[in-house]
Amino acid sequence: MDFVKSRLSKELLFVVILISVFIYISYTSFMLFHIGVEFFSIAIAFAMFVIVINVDKFSENDYFIFLGIAYGFIAGFDLLHTLSYEGMGIFSNHTANLPTQLWIISRYLESISLLVAIIFLKRKIDKTKVIAIYSLLAVLLLLSVFWWGIFPDCLIAGEGLTLFKKVSEYIISSIILITLALVYYNREKFYQKTYIYMVLSLLSTAVAELFFTFYVSVYGISNIAGHLLKIASFYFIYKSIIEINLRKPYSSLFSEINQAKTNLESKNDELENVIYAISHDIRSPLVNIRGFSKEIEFSVEELRNLISESSISGPIKDDLEEIIDEQIPDSLNYIVDSVNNVDGLLKGLLKLSRIDSNELALKRIDANQKLDEVVANYKYKIQEEKIDIEVSDLPNCQADEVQFMQIFSNLIENAIKYSQSDTISRIKVSGWEEKEEIVYSVADNGIGISEENQNQIFRIFNRASTEIADGEGLGLALVKKIVDRHHGEIWLESELGVGSEFFISFPKYD
Ligand code: ADP
Repeated sequence: MDFVKSRLSKELLFVVILISVFIYISYTSFMLFHIGVEFFSIAIAFAMFVIVINVDKFSENDYFIFLGIAYGFIAGFDLLHTLSYEGMGIFSNHTANLPTQLWIISRYLESISLLVAIIFLKRKIDKTKVIAIYSLLAVLLLLSVFWWGIFPDCLIAGEGLTLFKKVSEYIISSIILITLALVYYNREKFYQKTYIYMVLSLLSTAVAELFFTFYVSVYGISNIAGHLLKIASFYFIYKSIIEINLRKPYSSLFSEINQAKTNLESKNDELENVIYAISHDIRSPLVNIRGFSKEIEFSVEELRNLISESSISGPIKDDLEEIIDEQIPDSLNYIVDSVNNVDGLLKGLLKLSRIDSNELALKRIDANQKLDEVVANYKYKIQEEKIDIEVSDLPNCQADEVQFMQIFSNLIENAIKYSQSDTISRIKVSGWEEKEEIVYSVADNGIGISEENQNQIFRIFNRASTEIADGEGLGLALVKKIVDRHHGEIWLESELGVGSEFFISFPKYD
């Protein structure tokens, strides 16, 4: 009901202002008023026609498609009605009877269309068929007025409105009232907004028709009131058509997208919980495997002692020693290496799955200080491999301290890992301030990444150069996740055999 309070009051205000402007015009020139009112409603009706013809793919409601088509034809008759007004001088050999006939045709078409439209609350529409029927009807009606002259008179000069015209207005009002009742009966099939607009439109039409039954002269007050209500009625129908054909489909599209996003997020959360649980649980048996491998080592040692103390000699002793000194230790090394690999992988997965659940503690980061700490962690490697690392003066940013360090640890570790063996490794960390973000870069002269791999490396388990160094393919996935959480961006420039430069941006907060 918020809509009733806010939107509807604005709509009503608009209609009231519009009507006031037209009332003012009616005092200066009735002809101008009539042309203004008619052209306004004709424009609205044509707009409805164009909308339903073009955007019906979105619309779920055939009722409004039917009305849009009908109103296109109604607008056509209204246009003829306006042009045939006595003062317009277009149909010079006709009297005031002609515009009144065309008016009554238009109102019959309108009221019957509103009534028939109810069928399409339940039925699918065949647009071509409906347009064909309306075209045929329009041609027959035009012939009956202009060619055959068989359409009943509505206004006779000197006598006033004919019985046919008066009775017709009552019939039309009754049709509208029946329609109103049917719309009310079927209110469940409308969206709340469109239902309110439809009721307002039908009420305005019904009252307008009643005004027309009272009118005495073409220029009389009830004619003016009737025309004004006609504007209101067309405007409200137009609003329902806009609502159902344009606003509603887009808003349902957006709500579907939002729904999909929420589902995706909850699936993601679920998946992360599963990864967390699995990685956590698998690490426990690894501890056992490590422990029992040690046990085997001790047992082998004992066996070795027993053999040396025993009287076993010759080829049997040689065979036993080969098993104890080479085969078992080789297999044990293989087991321990594998366990270490799996453990590294699980640790990485745990880290990755925990990123989202850890509260992001944003604070001002002294980037120079934090980078010094990160670089210090790799001091041994840097000295051993004689890496030339340079950290230029960095701007500060707002980030989670731990996660900020995780980003640069991963990038610097990669820059060290994927260096070229035959050249002196150079790593440069720089940073600068842009209009809305702080950007950092980590550049190296390492092996580089081919263009086709550049898009892949941020994905989990994606490794481009497995033969160069060990890894799990999780580091950059983690970095990307952290950057995403900070609403920042990560991208790279790289050339095989030349080097890579990773860029990370953080939004600036004032
Ligand atoms: P990992 O290093 O464990 O394989 P990452 O996610 O950190 O996993 O990196 C993914 C892949 O991206 C690496 O396997 C490597 O091929 C490539 N890569 C990352 N950083 C660099 C770099 N500085 N130079 C060249 N290749 C890189």
